[in-house]
Amino acid sequence: MVTVAEPIHFKPSPSHTLRNAGAFDAYGRQMSYLRISLTDRCNFRCVYCMPAVGMQFQPRAELLTDDELLRAVGLCAKIGFTKLRLTGGEPTIRPHLVELVRAMKAFPGIEEISMTTNALLLSRNAAELKEAGLDRINVSLDTIDPDRFKMMTRGGRLDLVWAGLEAADAVRLTPIKINSVVLKGHNDHEVGDLAALTIDRDWQMRFLEMMPMEGVGTVYDDSLITSAETQTRLEERFGPLEPIETPPNDPARVWKIRGAKGTVGFISPISAPFCAHCNRVRLTADGKLRLCLLRNDEVELRDLIRAGATDEDIELQLRQGIWRKPWGHGIAEGDRNIGRGMSQIGG
Ligand code: SAM
Repeated sequence: MVTVAEPIHFKPSPSHTLRNAGAFDAYGRQMSYLRISLTDRCNFRCVYCMPAVGMQFQPRAELLTDDELLRAVGLCAKIGFTKLRLTGGEPTIRPHLVELVRAMKAFPGIEEISMTTNALLLSRNAAELKEAGLDRINVSLDTIDPDRFKMMTRGGRLDLVWAGLEAADAVRLTPIKINSVVLKGHNDHEVGDLAALTIDRDWQMRFLEMMPMEGVGTVYDDSLITSAETQTRLEERFGPLEPIETPPNDPARVWKIRGAKGTVGFISPISAPFCAHCNRVRLTADGKLRLCLLRNDEVELRDLIRAGATDEDIELQLRQGIWRKPWGHGIAEGDRNIGRGMSQIGG
């Protein structure tokens, strides 16, 4: 079932933005969470994320340099962003990752840095990242069957990913959240085994509905499984799940298997959109502020920085851009994201 996002009723005037230190959109939502794509490249080719062939990566000269990236992030911190998430592509393949984390954590106002990763390379530097200021990680893991893992990632090795996860757990990059996109005919029959990981571990296993991103629309059309279908499967195996209260801007509805150490979350952008509580925007690796994952409206930052803009100019561009953040993703209305795939935006 595809559901239309409910509108909220608070509509402040533009002067609301000027009176407040925070960055607000025209619907009264304050943006405080920046998802930063460190690269559009990835060492996996997941079936729901990238097309099998024809993937184009951006020339390095088009990507933000470390200095440009840190300048943009520092100005976001100045206008009220408190949470950063590093993503991609695969963030762990970005050179100087540890130094970038350290520099970002030093910006006044930044309370938390997390990272979404496939964990393939994490066993190398989990401890260094923790020491530099990374607080926690989300790991994408759609199956715990090594052969299926190889198929869904188009070549990935589950044993190395598992080692990365354990390294992160050992240095307490926690709470660890595992993201699993549930696809009919790929891993839908495995959701119980994935959820069972939470019985002895304090992880959160999160089941995501697939979104119809550029390049993978046919997979979406054939494979969408809703959160309700996944929950039914889990309750058939474990009995009724127990609800856990979460903050309104947490995109996951969280539950627990009775007696489990960890929790199970459902992220339902298709059947239960959470646009009303959206507090996030994305910074793409090529320096655009992406206002909504599924809408093409972007705010140019890289060219402004390269043209010699002052901090005040960039701050104004950020605030004015955020003001026009679209209300919702529009999937239920039939809108489709065209142009950039998930790995090119920063998932
Ligand atoms: N490479 C990192 C990783 O594997 O986690 C970070 C980037 S990846 C694009 C970020 C997240 O986007 C992953 O959790 C992935 O499962 C999710 N994702 C990618 N394509 C998706 C789609 N079409 N629908 C829903 N989630 C998707």
